[in-house]
Amino acid sequence: MNLKDRFSPSDWENWKWQIQSRIRNAKELQDCISLTPSELETFQNTNRFFEFGTTLYYLSLINPDDPNCPIRKQIIPSPEELEKRPYETIDPLGEEAHMPVRGVTHRYPDRALWYLSHMCAVFCRFCTRKRKVGKSGSTPGSEDWEEAIHYFRTHPEIKEVILSGGDPLSLSDGKIEYLLGALRSISSINHIRIHSRYPVTLPYRITEDLGDVLGKFSPIYFVTHFNHPMELTQVAKERLNLLRERGKVILLNQSVLLKGINDSPEVLSELNYALTSSGVKPYYLHQCDEVFGSSGFRVPIQKGIEIMKSLRGYMSGITVPSYVIDLNGGGGKIPLPTDYLEKTDAEHYYFQNYQGRSFSVPKE
Ligand code: SF4
Repeated sequence: MNLKDRFSPSDWENWKWQIQSRIRNAKELQDCISLTPSELETFQNTNRFFEFGTTLYYLSLINPDDPNCPIRKQIIPSPEELEKRPYETIDPLGEEAHMPVRGVTHRYPDRALWYLSHMCAVFCRFCTRKRKVGKSGSTPGSEDWEEAIHYFRTHPEIKEVILSGGDPLSLSDGKIEYLLGALRSISSINHIRIHSRYPVTLPYRITEDLGDVLGKFSPIYFVTHFNHPMELTQVAKERLNLLRERGKVILLNQSVLLKGINDSPEVLSELNYALTSSGVKPYYLHQCDEVFGSSGFRVPIQKGIEIMKSLRGYMSGITVPSYVIDLNGGGGKIPLPTDYLEKTDAEHYYFQNYQGRSFSVPKE
């Protein structure tokens, strides 16, 4: 029997019920899918570093006949998570070192990231913030919020605030409305961005009420996090539509390049066409951050560059994200090169096009 069919539609489609019914341990998980002996053994050990958690909705997307199912790989702990490479750290982006106020990372000149909740519908095994995600003590309280708002107000160089976490949509609609209202009251803030994986892992969170809240503060740039075409279900597409129509948001997507999940031109091409047809602009393809225990997910940069070369030019520019790396230690995000410029001389630039053919462009 399909997992979904075990429950009533009114429960299944109720995001609060889905959160309350999240699967949190191996025993509960085995009631839903079978685990391999190696997965079972890994479970207890990995849980000490980073908890396990998934919604029934996201779990229902797993193909039980495929041991390499891309949904399964994103949420079920693997033995490689326990392998810590010398270059991996708990805070690869140096976020804690650039935190003037609890929860606020101010690393770039004109923008700041605001960590608002330790909660996510699903705990992704490759998460960059596994040091704090899932740990209730990491969530800023209301006094921290006021301090953060004061910081934004007194730092007019901040033009963009990014609501993040964990997942900011784990907060209630009322709290989200309060935070957006506070940010909108600061005239130096040019625009607001929300990063959320709920459209992927629990699209029922995108309710009409939430759409109405977001719609009051339009325009909001809303960045989703789809990694694989299997995640773009019918209900996900419907709720993206709701976000766009009722929430009046501008939809973008960031993916992480993940070994064995989406590291092929075919998968990324299908994903990015599907996103674009759902009204979502593919924005970033991230090189997987060097967070501890992530080596099993990381794709060599050279392979990532080759994948990008097989997309760019063959697909409409609207469907192609920028391939970027966030430099270890807080160096910031940079685009990864695709080497179209072959050489220069006194008079010309020499380029290769997407098919490998050479062209020159005069310098003057
Ligand atoms: S939704 Fe984002 S913050 Fe939450 S576990 Fe996944 S990657 Fe980490």
